[in-house]
Amino acid sequence: MSYSMSQQVKSGKILSPSTPWTERIVPGIHVPDEQTTLKATFTEPTIECPECHALVTRTAMSFNAYVCPQCDEHLKMKARDRLNWFFDQVQTEMGQEFTAKDPLKFVDSKAYPERMSEAQKKTGETEALIVMQGLLKGVPMIATAFEFDFMGGSMGTVVGDRFVQAAERAIETHQPLICFAASGGARMQEGMLSLMQMARTSAAIQRLKEAGLPYVVVLTHPVYGGVTASLAMLGDVHLAEPKAMIGFAGKRVIEQTVREKLDEPFQRAEYLLDHGVIDQIVHRHALRDTVYRIITKLMNLP
Ligand SMILES: [Zn+2]
Repeated sequence: MSYSMSQQVKSGKILSPSTPWTERIVPGIHVPDEQTTLKATFTEPTIECPECHALVTRTAMSFNAYVCPQCDEHLKMKARDRLNWFFDQVQTEMGQEFTAKDPLKFVDSKAYPERMSEAQKKTGETEALIVMQGLLKGVPMIATAFEFDFMGGSMGTVVGDRFVQAAERAIETHQPLICFAASGGARMQEGMLSLMQMARTSAAIQRLKEAGLPYVVVLTHPVYGGVTASLAMLGDVHLAEPKAMIGFAGKRVIEQTVREKLDEPFQRAEYLLDHGVIDQIVHRHALRDTVYRIITKLMNLP
């Protein structure tokens, strides 16, 4: 009793019968003040789930492959994170030598080179398609992924160059090709040249098929326009992530054209599976296993 009395006198608090017991200092127990508790709670950056609004730390989210641990919503995954997660071991990155040009000197509200450098700053990538070669459970393969944050994952000349190079390298080295698609379509700033990439990539896929190599497409949210109309719909197998939106023209454009109101699930992966457009909807956690199984079956690997 004498010890606690001296402590309270030292801290300026004098024990009196009117002090509530919750405010009396107990020797040996440290009570943090409110400020320090708040600081400790917010030291790590968090991501808010767009579906259930749960706050999850970035580290926990990345360990869970950006799937919400509370409601299973599949969040957007950066192309580089996606490929690093997909492969057990990345051996090389390809196509970095292709860099953007501005052949039409295109200007809308901003000049094309200005938009390009903004996108590069925002994403840390040089273009909207990333190509890597690596091993998935010991099987060598080439995988491409669209970075949607880079000008809406739009397909310009460089995206075409990188994709064609990936397909040609796959033929040379006898490896399968995987594509994680997420795109708003062709890149309007390159006009006709971006539309030509639809034909170029389709021809490259045809050469891959003639060489007897599998091409697997994983449709992630969202895939639209010229990418749907070419490389994203030419796979031997089409997988999709749950609730991904896949289509050619958007819902509003179709409604205005046909002058009819369309159902809500229209263009969702689940709707497309029911109507035979895609082969399977795969949870992100099962995606690596599913792709591995498909590739080993199609290539007759043990
Ligand atoms: Zn959630």
